Amino acid sequence: MKEHDCIIIGGGPAGLTAGIYAARSRLDVLLLEKLMPGGQAVTTSLVENYPGFDEGVSGPDLMARMDQQARRFGLDVEIALVERVALDGGRKRIFADDKEYLVNALIVSTGAQSRLLGVPGEQELKGKGVSYCATCDGAFFREKRVAVVGGGDSAVEEAVYLTRFADKVFIIHRRDQLRAAKVVQERALQHDKIEILWDTVVTRINGEQFVQSIDVKNVKTDQESQLDVAGVFMYVGVSPNSDFFDFPIDKDAGGFLISDQNMQTSVEGIYAAGDVRSKTFRQIVNATGEGAMAAFSAEKYLENLKS
Ligand code: NAP
Repeated sequence: MKEHDCIIIGGGPAGLTAGIYAARSRLDVLLLEKLMPGGQAVTTSLVENYPGFDEGVSGPDLMARMDQQARRFGLDVEIALVERVALDGGRKRIFADDKEYLVNALIVSTGAQSRLLGVPGEQELKGKGVSYCATCDGAFFREKRVAVVGGGDSAVEEAVYLTRFADKVFIIHRRDQLRAAKVVQERALQHDKIEILWDTVVTRINGEQFVQSIDVKNVKTDQESQLDVAGVFMYVGVSPNSDFFDFPIDKDAGGFLISDQNMQTSVEGIYAAGDVRSKTFRQIVNATGEGAMAAFSAEKYLENLKS
């Protein structure tokens, strides 16, 4: 078993920023990440609203820079999937793969993952035309017709990205108004390869080995039709990665962790930052701010313990 002052779980924008601050404060800190640092931001084709990049920056590039910045200050990163967190007196015991860690302060920045739409055919055709990441899979759909489900920032931004490859991109949205930022909406509304199907839901995804078509229904008229597409990109929101606590910790109805303005959760010495946190605004820019705040709070907590 390894002991540290502080562990950060999750290496997205919040976790890496917490790592930068904690490492610069010379805390005995370790970041645990299940795959490779970067988080969901690496699936974003182009980040246009992170200050300092006037031309925009690709999600993978931005996250690679944050990772390098954290490591430059000596942040240790281990690849391990956290399966369980338990309390041990005032300390926190973390079980990840076959390893165990004991820490005083814990920063949870595990982010969120794509929600499934939950229609027939989705599970069966996952990876065979059903995708949750346009940046990863978009190039497979060169000169094909694809659908994007959802009306938020991710759906509309990634629909525009997909026009680089696809001949035609349908945005299928259940309402008559998009939720995405206005500047992104304008880009989609003006794009000649994009067609928006308003008030429409997907009811089934069809295909033998690969997606061939989707069944859609207009929720206002109840009219049903079939749309020939080779790919369906799901962007219907996110759910938090917050299921590994084996003790009570406050969460909202969606399972997002509740933490105060200092990122303090309902359990002393545990801080939540970034997309896993209960909030209304999920952006890279506030995830980084929350990561910095969580590291500051953890540092103060550790100082108090020592004195
Ligand atoms: P989101 O903002 O929650 O949008 C999800 C979309 O899916 C909504 O349009 C929603 O419709 C629709 N939806 C949800 N459940 C559905 C269902 N069962 N059937 C059909 N449609 C459904 O999720 P997101 O776009 O993944 O973004 C997540 C967070 O990251 C947001 O806070 C977003 O602002 C942020 N983000 C920011 C950027 C950026 O700033 N560049 C980029 C990506 C993401 P309704 O509109 O009717 O609810």
